[in-house]
Amino acid sequence: DHSRSTEVFGHARTVIPGGVNSPVRAFSNVGIDPVFYDRAQGAQVWDIDGNAYLDFICSWGPMIFGHGDPEILDAVRCQLDRGVSFGAPCEAEVRLADLICSVAPGVEEVRMVSSGTEATMTAIRLARGCTGRDKIIKFQGNYHGHSDSLLVSAGSGVATLGIPDTPGVTAATASDTMVATYNNLDSVRSLFEAAPDQVACVIVEPVSGNMGVVAPQEGFLRGLRDLCDQFGALLIMDEVITGFRVALGGAQQLFGVSADLCTYGKIIGGGFPVGCVAGRERFMSNLAPAGSVYQAGTLSGNPVAMEAGLAQIRKLAREADRLYPQLQRKSDVLFGGLRDAASQAGVQVQVNALGSVGTVFFTPDPVVDWQTAARSDRDAFAVYFRAMLDQGLLIAPSQFEAVFLSDAHTDQHLQAFLA
Ligand code: PLP
Repeated sequence: DHSRSTEVFGHARTVIPGGVNSPVRAFSNVGIDPVFYDRAQGAQVWDIDGNAYLDFICSWGPMIFGHGDPEILDAVRCQLDRGVSFGAPCEAEVRLADLICSVAPGVEEVRMVSSGTEATMTAIRLARGCTGRDKIIKFQGNYHGHSDSLLVSAGSGVATLGIPDTPGVTAATASDTMVATYNNLDSVRSLFEAAPDQVACVIVEPVSGNMGVVAPQEGFLRGLRDLCDQFGALLIMDEVITGFRVALGGAQQLFGVSADLCTYGKIIGGGFPVGCVAGRERFMSNLAPAGSVYQAGTLSGNPVAMEAGLAQIRKLAREADRLYPQLQRKSDVLFGGLRDAASQAGVQVQVNALGSVGTVFFTPDPVVDWQTAARSDRDAFAVYFRAMLDQGLLIAPSQFEAVFLSDAHTDQHLQAFLA
């Protein structure tokens, strides 16, 4: 009863009042009535009015095998049928942790949580506990989750919808956060030198997905590793986007640099709420209950999420030799095709891509002051994304166009996008 119909570029879509206003739901953040998904299979999504879309959002990344992967769903169904009570230790959690240790370089211990945000909060608390220091160094434009202290000075227009002052995030929560420039080791060294013996950790997105898939320059991650060692701080790599994506062993495998602690989310749960903090045993062992750094979560390690995660990572490990080269090939077709199409049309774009994640900027200087750009371009975004919807394409609207590819995208789907 509380729904009404609207017509958007020929698509009849039902609008449900109150459905707007969530930053990560499809399209509401560009001021378009969101698409309400009804069902999904592979690379396709159908809305509640039966309109079909090709999905290049993939739930903001987790669905690397596409929607409705039978192995993950079977594992979950099987767990539900067993009716095991929640809150007890579950075998799948231990198996999943062991599996992650075996595929991710440098990972010796894993602690399950329920999201990427929880994972990064836990990693930072652990770094503070291990070092007895308070300050953290993060990078402008890197996003690590939606808790107050992680949004601070984040330049996280993704989270704040381009509004620089985030109500509720105060200077007090910012005081321990020092902000460096991504791909600029000098800026990190200066911060260390300004507060020697006070920095607990450097946290970095090894490939900055939230700045629009900006890759680390040669020597940047290695340089961070060295600076952390020199100043006695922990290096935390936030692999929430890169983990199990840029390689089975994530960015640490791809770039050959190991962190002390790292965080995973997104892909690990295949759409179910799974995140983890992971890393060297000598640091991880400080987590409660064995160690003194508090960590707990009522729903952490719940059996349904753990079975989903276990099925997902097992399948990734089994299919890695086929999957990752395939995703890279599809990425080359799609993003290479976009570059070609833009140059033929005389449109200036910057296309960044690494395997199954990529982005398209329509501004010439993409990473400069995009918070301002995001606000002023909002109307243009709305027109643009309505047109995308009209073509039956779901693409993550942001200050740039973020695209996630999955194993379920066929060459035909890629060609449909390019067309
Ligand atoms: N870290 C990075 C690099 C992310 O991209 C995100 C989310 O997009 C997070 C952390 C937060 O993860 P979650 O949204 O699961 O809390």
